[in-house]
Amino acid sequence: MTAQLIDGKALSQKIRAEVAARAAALAARGRRPGLAVILVGDDPASAVYVRNKVRACAESGLHSVMEKYDTALPEAALLERLAALNADPAIHGILVQMPVPRHIDPHRVIEAIDPLKDVDGFSVRSAGELMSGLPGLRPATPWGCMKMIESTGVPVRGRHAVVIGRSNTVGKPMALLLLQASATVTVCHSATPELKRHVQMADIVVAAVGRRHTVTADMVKRGATVIDVGTNHDEAGKLCGDVDFAAVREALGPQGWISPVPGGVGPMTITMLLANTVQAAEACA
Ligand code: NAP
Repeated sequence: MTAQLIDGKALSQKIRAEVAARAAALAARGRRPGLAVILVGDDPASAVYVRNKVRACAESGLHSVMEKYDTALPEAALLERLAALNADPAIHGILVQMPVPRHIDPHRVIEAIDPLKDVDGFSVRSAGELMSGLPGLRPATPWGCMKMIESTGVPVRGRHAVVIGRSNTVGKPMALLLLQASATVTVCHSATPELKRHVQMADIVVAAVGRRHTVTADMVKRGATVIDVGTNHDEAGKLCGDVDFAAVREALGPQGWISPVPGGVGPMTITMLLANTVQAAEACA
């Protein structure tokens, strides 16, 4: 018997229905939630992410605007556009798709977004709110991972969680969310010796590395919950995660849980972005 599947698509649909109902309630009061998505440059992967976000808005009854700029857009012009969107009452969430071209400082861009409209949750203020346990806008990917863990019914309190990866957008906020839920948290990264020794002790594993087969069957504890954030491609060009899915699913056994790639964290990330946009609109209603 293999581990149970955490179906990110199905969970996403359930949460999106709730998001759509909240959006409709706001729209009925004349405050339809609005998201502005800005893309600078012509990175094909970024263009797909942006399109998916805009489409998801339409499907859930949110207003959205998509602005696409040439790679050469000066930083000052982008900051000016953000200032205008900050002042636009029809826009409750603003997102600049990362990465931005090299001549633009991503930190300056993130900090130029009104913190109340920071639906990516990447600003210093949002990070501070998360660290302090204050309410605020949580980064969509780790927040989606928390929802996936919650959906299993496996308690987080008192469990040992191992997060692999320490980026500001995934690994660090993931560790803070797990800590807030009273897990004992270990954060591993590229300088961690003996990754296997840490993962073997984990009740919950979140892999956010960007490298295939980072988590293999010999590394996991039977009965553990494994969330795969990674997006990679195999030799055939097929999308895959950081976890050796089939073998790890087998090794976890029937009490274990595992999320697939695709169909796991990906749909949840967009869903939590929509949830953040609705939350931002509710906050100013
Ligand atoms: P990132 O900024 O590149 O961070 C990767 C992290 O992995 C770093 O902290 C790095 O350590 C660590 N790492 C690298 N090699 C390692 C190793 N051998 N052992 C242990 N740790 C190692 O990436 P990210 O933005 O956090 O994203 C991680 C992955 O998730 C990527 O594949 C990305 O595409 C994917 N992702 C998916 C979604 C989604 O919605 N599905 C959303 C966001 C990200 P150092 O800090 O020491 O370099």
